[in-house]
Amino acid sequence: MQTDYTIIGGGVIGLSIAYELLKKNFSVTIFNVTGPTTASLAAGGMLGGQNEFSEPSPLFDLAIESRAQHSVLATELDALTGIDVELIPSGLLKVATQPSDMPSLTQQYQFLTTQPATPVLWRKANEVEPLMSDLGQGIHITGDHQVKARQLTKALTKAVQLLGGTIIAEHVRKINTATLTTDNGHYHYQHLIVAAGAWSKQLVPQLPMYPVKGECMMLRVQRAPRTTIFAADGCYIVPKKNNEVLIGATSYPHQSDAGVTAGGIQSLLTRAIAMMPSLQHAQIIETWCGVRPQTIDELPIIGAISPHIYCCTGHYRNGILLSAITGKLVSEALIGDVNAQQRLAPFSPYRFI
Ligand SMILES: Cc1cc2nc3c(=O)[nH]c(=O)nc-3n(C[C@H](O)[C@H](O)[C@H](O)COP(=O)(O)OP(=O)(O)OC[C@H]3O[C@@H](n4cnc5c(N)ncnc54)[C@H](O)[C@@H]3O)c2cc1C
Repeated sequence: MQTDYTIIGGGVIGLSIAYELLKKNFSVTIFNVTGPTTASLAAGGMLGGQNEFSEPSPLFDLAIESRAQHSVLATELDALTGIDVELIPSGLLKVATQPSDMPSLTQQYQFLTTQPATPVLWRKANEVEPLMSDLGQGIHITGDHQVKARQLTKALTKAVQLLGGTIIAEHVRKINTATLTTDNGHYHYQHLIVAAGAWSKQLVPQLPMYPVKGECMMLRVQRAPRTTIFAADGCYIVPKKNNEVLIGATSYPHQSDAGVTAGGIQSLLTRAIAMMPSLQHAQIIETWCGVRPQTIDELPIIGAISPHIYCCTGHYRNGILLSAITGKLVSEALIGDVNAQQRLAPFSPYRFI
């Protein structure tokens, strides 16, 4: 059966678009084969609306709006699916672990204090989080909360199915003008949305994108921190439910294999334990990796590339945060909402031409 919209990719981006379109009573089919490195199942789940910005960006307002939408979405998804996305209002403490990180941290603090979002505070790190080593001052971002990314993906998948969406577990090999090809045959589509994360370039080769692999691990601790800790060098400690603590993430540009390396895990543990010594007693529950979809100018690619094909990808390390606003604005833009189209204009694929 041909539906109004066909989406390739069932990570948080494709699912969020499907969810919003289904709420507007359109019919949707998603083609998705979950891989061992699907980013949405690998993410730390931080909603870093302020943490991720240290200079003006067309993404900043969207990030702040999306962060706020996650609380509404969490309630909506729980009511519809019974799945708790584990939104934890932990706030985030950004710290410098070496003197050379201090100038960038100070500059970020100065930038954030000029922006109209939740106030940020310059505070002594181990007063905010008593389990921390004495690292001097850090930026306390009280509004940057977090979810469990796997739960969010699971809840969105179930919501899409409950609202009548169809999910087909077939690998799309090729896109043609009005059909797509999987290993099982050809499917006609009316409007196609490519939201295949780091694999979008395999379907639309002209997209200027590349994969960035990242490794994470989950630990079980006796006493969990109360705040997310984010070091300026990229290592983070995110307290989850049931005394679990997520440690992330390494970063390997242009890599997309599914292997977790001993060196990667060692580097994360060394940095995390230096920030929070009690982690040396934690049990390792699981290690994994995922592949972030990055673009050459570090902004997502959102917009039509032909009359019937729309792309939505390249959310790099903020796709969980940005999924809520992306789903909302893309669903509105697709049905001709001029305001949504204008807000998405900075991310048009045509900016590269
Ligand atoms: C280690 C790590 C930590 C992260 N931490 C955070 C964080 O704390 N906060 C945050 O906001 N973001 C974080 N991110 C980024 C976030 O996870 C991504 O930006 C987001 O998940 C991208 O979602 P997506 O739907 O575009 O891609 P994906 O989640 O990768 O989904 C794409 C899906 O499409 C499928 N697919 C691809 N090609 C095809 C095809 N041809 N046919 C059928 N199916 C196909 C893939 O298998 C996959 O299931 C992190 C990412 C990683 C890797």
